[in-house]
Amino acid sequence: MTTYDVGIVGGGCIGCSIGYHLAAETSLDVCIVEKEHHLAAHQSGRNSGVLHPGFNYPPGSLKARFATEGTRRMKDYCERTGVPLDELGVLVLATDERERARLETIRAQATENGVPTELLESPGAIAEYEPHAAGEAALYCPAAASVDSQQYVYALAADAADAGVDVFTDAEVRDVRQRGETHHLETSIGPIRCSYLVNAAGLYADKLAHQLGVGEGYRVVPFRGEYYELVPAKRDLVRSMLYPTPDPELPFLGVHYTRRTDGSVIVGPNAVPAFGREAYRNTQFDLRELAETLGFPGVWKLFASRKMLGVGLAELRKSYRKAAFVAAANRLLPAAEADDFRKSYAGIRAQLVSRDGDLVADPMVAHGPRSTHVLNAVSPGLTSSLPFGEHVAGEVVDRMG
Ligand SMILES: Cc1cc2nc3c(=O)[nH]c(=O)nc-3n(C[C@H](O)[C@H](O)[C@H](O)COP(=O)(O)OP(=O)(O)OC[C@H]3O[C@@H](n4cnc5c(N)ncnc54)[C@H](O)[C@@H]3O)c2cc1C
Repeated sequence: MTTYDVGIVGGGCIGCSIGYHLAAETSLDVCIVEKEHHLAAHQSGRNSGVLHPGFNYPPGSLKARFATEGTRRMKDYCERTGVPLDELGVLVLATDERERARLETIRAQATENGVPTELLESPGAIAEYEPHAAGEAALYCPAAASVDSQQYVYALAADAADAGVDVFTDAEVRDVRQRGETHHLETSIGPIRCSYLVNAAGLYADKLAHQLGVGEGYRVVPFRGEYYELVPAKRDLVRSMLYPTPDPELPFLGVHYTRRTDGSVIVGPNAVPAFGREAYRNTQFDLRELAETLGFPGVWKLFASRKMLGVGLAELRKSYRKAAFVAAANRLLPAAEADDFRKSYAGIRAQLVSRDGDLVADPMVAHGPRSTHVLNAVSPGLTSSLPFGEHVAGEVVDRMG
């Protein structure tokens, strides 16, 4: 039996950042417990790898604060630790008058959030940055960057381990019980005890929290994001990152192009309701998890909205029909042909939904007696991970007294 002051469940960017900050700022005995053989095996390693500098988040929101600060701090961290990061900038493309008007709103938000942007007001101005991109106008944000998220998580874990944190992989937490002042974790590598539990279990964070009676009005609903990539001969069609103008009523950004630090160009993700929390292929079903999701009233309320239902069906079409995906991708890059896209990886977003059917848009943390639960590490959770992890570590220290 091993005993710690703090046990962190989840070896993604949030769990590792919390461990890193606890190790840097306290002398507590800390461990990180990860069920997979590798760290960053789920959301933290299966994402677009973009540092979102916060130009399109509501001013004053936690999301905006964490994204702007997170971008700045992660650039410094990656430079210091040698994690690959390319400061490419992003173009948000408007293809009609309605989108052009929305760019103005986004630009005003960016200014309030302290993020520099430039409005490119003609196709010619866009072509100077991205010769093949389609748009009537675009917002250019130079602070956006592309990062290797897996290497970043490993760097955080290595720093935490150097500072004394024990990192266990292949260690699934199967049951948690609180007895008095101690949490008893039944794990696949044996029992672990800790005085304080931190839940950063991503797609399973709600389930772990519910075991301790926390966050019962919320459920993680998995949304798969599938990617294609441009074949190597066509990578030159994209120099940096191309985004559509976001719809403020939708939580996901829409299919976009990202040049990754290895030179590949990924296209996506879509946002498809997944039939299991780790169902990475569109032929995969986990019937028990699907039944649990459908048994949650918030899911029915969410899809009762005509708009969400319409979007859900359109996204399903993009998943099962390559032509529908390519059509969405071609809005930004007409020069790419269907054969230029080949299927790539997928990630699954842990989207928190309330019993009333609301998609929780901001990062959310809940507490139990001697435990803290990261219920919503919503995108841009990777970008936000340093300030968010530091914030959670601070709350843990305060609550431990
Ligand atoms: C498709 C997609 C694209 C995205 N793009 C971006 C982007 O470009 N930029 C950005 O900033 N953000 C992006 N995000 C969001 C970002 O990836 C997430 O917000 C972030 O990775 C969440 O990190 P996490 O540590 O909370 O979760 P995770 O990385 O999922 O980590 C949770 C860990 O807990 C482990 N775990 C779960 N249950 C147990 C258990 N019982 N016992 C032990 N371990 C357990 C899991 O194995 C997992 O490793 C994207 C997300 C997705 C899915």
